[in-house]
Amino acid sequence: MDATIGIPPAVTEETQAFWNAASQGRLIVERCSACGRDNFPPRGMCRYCRSRSMVPTEITGRGRVYSLTVNYQRWLPELEVPYVIVLVEFDEHPGVRVVGRLRGCPPEAAAIGMAVEVGFEPGPGGYAIPSFYALNR
Ligand SMILES: [Zn+2]
Repeated sequence: MDATIGIPPAVTEETQAFWNAASQGRLIVERCSACGRDNFPPRGMCRYCRSRSMVPTEITGRGRVYSLTVNYQRWLPELEVPYVIVLVEFDEHPGVRVVGRLRGCPPEAAAIGMAVEVGFEPGPGGYAIPSFYALNR
């Protein structure tokens, strides 16, 4: 599987825990201990109630494609096109949507609502970045 190429992520104090977990193959979001809602991307503050008591919560289990786009543009010479970028939501984590490449599925077979599981792949700058693998094809 080809490594994703591009620009390394800008890691901040708020996103450090996310990238650390990603390097271990874990996808975490922030759960607010004041109102109980999940927040993503991590910002150190709840976007619903503005509490700062955020607790890392791991996303396990499958997600579902909420939206998708097929990229045909060769942004960089070594980029293989076309590929699918999906926005994924999770039943147990309402309000959380995570973007990533879709793997294991040709662009013409990608569909909204399809089940995926999260994985990680080597990204630019040595970071592990989320991607999604098609299930039940
Ligand atoms: Zn909250």
